[in-house]
Amino acid sequence: MTNIIGHFINGKIIEDTAHTQDVYNPSTGRVEKQVSMASRATVEEAVAAAQAAFPAWRNTPVMKRARVMFRYKELLEQNRDTICRLIGAEHGKILHDAAGELQRGIENVEYACGAPEFLKGDYSKNVGPDIDSWSDFQPLGVVAGITPFNFPAMVPLWMFPLAIVCGNTFVLKPSERDPSVGLFLAQLLQEAGLPDGVFNVVNGGKEAVDTLLTDARVQAVSFVGSTPIAQYIYSTATANGKRCQALGGAKNHAIVMPDADLDNVVNSLLGAAFGSCGERCMALSVAVAVGDETADRMIAGIKEGMKTLKVGAYSDNANHFGPLITAEHKAKVESYINSAEEQGATIVVDGRKPDLPAEYADGFFLGATLIDGVTPDMKSYQEEIFGPVLQVVRVKTMQEALDLINRHIYGNGTCIYTRDGEAARYFADNVQVGMVGINIPLPVPVAYHSFGGWKQSMFGDLGAYGRDGARFYTRRKTVTQRWPTSEVREGAVFSMPTLG
Ligand code: NAD
Repeated sequence: MTNIIGHFINGKIIEDTAHTQDVYNPSTGRVEKQVSMASRATVEEAVAAAQAAFPAWRNTPVMKRARVMFRYKELLEQNRDTICRLIGAEHGKILHDAAGELQRGIENVEYACGAPEFLKGDYSKNVGPDIDSWSDFQPLGVVAGITPFNFPAMVPLWMFPLAIVCGNTFVLKPSERDPSVGLFLAQLLQEAGLPDGVFNVVNGGKEAVDTLLTDARVQAVSFVGSTPIAQYIYSTATANGKRCQALGGAKNHAIVMPDADLDNVVNSLLGAAFGSCGERCMALSVAVAVGDETADRMIAGIKEGMKTLKVGAYSDNANHFGPLITAEHKAKVESYINSAEEQGATIVVDGRKPDLPAEYADGFFLGATLIDGVTPDMKSYQEEIFGPVLQVVRVKTMQEALDLINRHIYGNGTCIYTRDGEAARYFADNVQVGMVGINIPLPVPVAYHSFGGWKQSMFGDLGAYGRDGARFYTRRKTVTQRWPTSEVREGAVFSMPTLG
């Protein structure tokens, strides 16, 4: 009755029916597929394939590695519709939103095509008499990527194109909730000419992840997901001697100043709070209004805008957003709305009973919810909700708004809406958050910058993709060279060499 989604190891799809888990279509609420859950032995097979492929791939000229990425970019574009449908059917996001996700992923492939340039090292001639010195960037070996459900194409594409073009081999462990995209991305990479074993995909859960974290052959781990798991990944990977970057959850605030362009605020908050059903780590989930008048005007505008929002199945591009990922997650989001109500906040627009056609009655839908009068002591304020819920906090001054953001445990993204350049500049300089927008709601850095939050939104030193990514997936080697001739032969030297 159902398809089995297996693994991709050493260039082949492996169908493994020993342990499987249901994969839902969140729009209908029905189980349509099963995913194989990799055992330790299966993951070890993938790591062995990656290890075996490493020496030849490492020695493949970087220009040839980049050419695979050029072909890959074309194939991703040619297969855009298929990929977006796979995303929609398992994640639930609307096709237009899936196309945006894929485009942001492809931009990382485009960046990877520049590897011959960004992997160039430094060279200094004659650093001492007849001594030359250079440094370059060498790949690490086998690296692993563990990714979340909410961007099944984009987040893997943040990782593996760059890791591979730098000369590493890769094992990807996608989210078990929407696993088909990862396999399809692997098949296209093979079609682009990547040698077998360089890129492998294992589906599964904790057992698969724990194998990657403890296998001595894995040199580095990139993780994106929730904060508790990010902390676990970071501490376990580093305790096992691996390089690790672990990106976690978020609570992104937007400050709305009294002088802000309110039409821009309303339009961009609607998209940034409710787009993708609020399941984005850069979603704006808290609007901090400076002054009651600002709050009242903003709420009136958002309330009006929310009347036009269409919630429904992923396949209809007229919808603004789709369902949540699972029934459990839907219940969790509802419980945050309930708790805000119980703790004294005002539910201005209630999305808990969305109006849907009968065929989608069992889907995991929630309507957009707007909550006013939220205060920092509330559970719904302190924790990440990850659903279509926008909360409003009222403050009196910009400094109060800034202090609120700086006290929060998360520091992924933020935004200020204002016409005042001085206020914006002060905010950007002083806010304790990694990615800042000024009148820009979702300041996701482009592929040639790097992505990374602060505080509990990221563990590790180097962010994802861009220059940080290239440094994460390589290590610097510095060589100092002399060719002794009979004229320059010296006796033994016991003081620290100064090369002068
Ligand atoms: P998650 O933490 O539940 O899962 C992420 C990955 O970890 C999955 O591959 C999953 O199989 C694995 N995993 C889950 N539990 C595990 C365990 N106990 N041991 C080992 N591995 C485990 O996250 P999710 O629900 O898939 O994704 C949503 C979260 O990801 C949100 O918190 C969101 O903010 C965050 N996110 C962050 C960013 C960012 O860039 N900072 C981007 C996207 C998503």
